[in-house]
Amino acid sequence: MTKKVDIDWANLSFSYMKTDFRYVAKWKDGKWDEGKLVEDNMLTISEASTALHYGQQCFEGLKAYRTKDNKIQLFRPDENAKRLNRSCDKLLMPNFPVERFIDACMQVVKANEAYVPPYGTGATLYLRPFLIGVGDNIGVKPAPEYLFCVFCVPVGPYFKGGLTPVNFVISESFDRAAPYGTGGAKVGGNYAASLEAHKVAVDNGFADCIYLDPKTHTKIEEVGAANFFGITHDNKFITPKSPSILPSITKYSLLHIAKEYMNLETSEGDVLVEDLDQFKEAGACGTAAVITPIGGIEYRGKLHVFHSETEVGPLTRELYDTLYGIQFGDVKAPEGWIYEVK
Ligand SMILES: *Cc1c(COP(=O)(O)O)cnc(C)c1O
Repeated sequence: MTKKVDIDWANLSFSYMKTDFRYVAKWKDGKWDEGKLVEDNMLTISEASTALHYGQQCFEGLKAYRTKDNKIQLFRPDENAKRLNRSCDKLLMPNFPVERFIDACMQVVKANEAYVPPYGTGATLYLRPFLIGVGDNIGVKPAPEYLFCVFCVPVGPYFKGGLTPVNFVISESFDRAAPYGTGGAKVGGNYAASLEAHKVAVDNGFADCIYLDPKTHTKIEEVGAANFFGITHDNKFITPKSPSILPSITKYSLLHIAKEYMNLETSEGDVLVEDLDQFKEAGACGTAAVITPIGGIEYRGKLHVFHSETEVGPLTRELYDTLYGIQFGDVKAPEGWIYEVK
């Protein structure tokens, strides 16, 4: 009786497709309703919603993976739930309980089970939870009502032909966030602020731009919408630490893997642009691609190449294979990282 969908799994990209069900919960008069799955993919909200005018909204991104024995699993959804609530705190929006967040994701995956790509294709079901301020309001203040929703789309693997390094350019004319702004929250405003910088980088032949710390412009913060890590010549895994960086769950997972699975020393701290020579490998990390190996970084007209512009370095490869293996159930996960969808 299981529904079948006609999708060419091998050629999926990262684009929107309407799936059958999405989850919607409403907050009004100080509380969330019980929430439900709906078929309609359109939202009807007040034209005066704070999400539309004042950027009062935040979102998350996570994936459901099909394993070799045909189970479906989520990777650390509790971390997404907690991060969503930290974003909500920052924008004065009500929290959505962690247990309910995980349950909503599970419900959406189950209801759209036919869209979870088969094991071995590298494709996954991408989940997009979001929380927005709605209701009638015109002054600059928190909304009177909120919606929490989760929808899903099947997406292809980021790298179709295997891990390929790409080049990035350091942005000195754009910041994605202010020193004490919303950089650490997963909010749409940061993305609006990044569109132009991204376009300029791409127009100049780079995959994306690298943002420096907004205060001194001397330290690496983010690689487009992904976190940065580097591996030093003496095998240390180093990643920047700053309140204006979005704390990537992939990044913290890689930190753990570097330490516990690969016996590398790890640290979070300043990564000065002038110290790029300390790294033999570097990468960008996030849910979408897991790891994007960084071939080179251009700074003030000079391209700094790490391992190679064409081949992924061995430690970056091992980090990638281990995390990818954990996510698809082929490598033993640390306690509590995997939630089976039943
Ligand atoms: C979502 C996001 C990331 C990656 O976070 P993951 O939890 O690893 O997916 C990195 N940087 C920014 C700006 C983001 O919005």
